[in-house]
Amino acid sequence: MKIENKIEDFESLGDDHIGTSSNTPLRNDAFKLSNEEKIDIIKDDVRHIMETLGLDLSDDSLSGTPNRVAKMFVKEIFGGLNPKKKPSASTFDNKYKYGEMLVEKNITVYSTCEHHLLPIVGKAHIAYISNGTVVGLSKMNRIVDYFAKRPQVQERLTIQVVKELQEVLDTKDVACVIDAKHLCVNSRGIRDIESSTVTSEFGGKFKEEATRREFLDYIKLDTKF
Ligand SMILES: [Zn+2]
Repeated sequence: MKIENKIEDFESLGDDHIGTSSNTPLRNDAFKLSNEEKIDIIKDDVRHIMETLGLDLSDDSLSGTPNRVAKMFVKEIFGGLNPKKKPSASTFDNKYKYGEMLVEKNITVYSTCEHHLLPIVGKAHIAYISNGTVVGLSKMNRIVDYFAKRPQVQERLTIQVVKELQEVLDTKDVACVIDAKHLCVNSRGIRDIESSTVTSEFGGKFKEEATRREFLDYIKLDTKF
């Protein structure tokens, strides 16, 4: 049963997605329903889960939860599934002719583990070497936030951020390191509250030892503000 479902899902993705595991596995009909229609359906599903657990939804404290959760899924924590939410790709000419590495570190990551639907909380550190094009600094935060607002695995999130910036900046010379806690590990299961997961993706010049080392040294700087 499980395997059959998998094959069906895989086939429904179409040619575009085959072999590109860095893409979020979305169905072809992912955006046929409006946000309001999705909220309506999910609301009933959440109510069903809560009732099955034995909760009394006539209680004032619980009665609004199904609607609240449905809205939060569709518009907030999974809002980045919709390509329309992708930050616009406004770039600038590198007027200062700054040819060194630019690092934006400690970008807050709030995402959701796609295996348990529990939070992933951490920091992303991004670097690029301009090819003549630069982006506003907040653009990097927005790109992280957009891809984080999906059911995710941290490896894919890291790759998606790098690929997007490579496209926007028209250079391969982009790197990203994410260090994050997974609440599915920290709060349940093995309950290891101290552990965090580090993932990295190094493109272009960042594959070279010296460039990679420079980036990793910058993100080790323990600046206090
Ligand atoms: Zn998980």
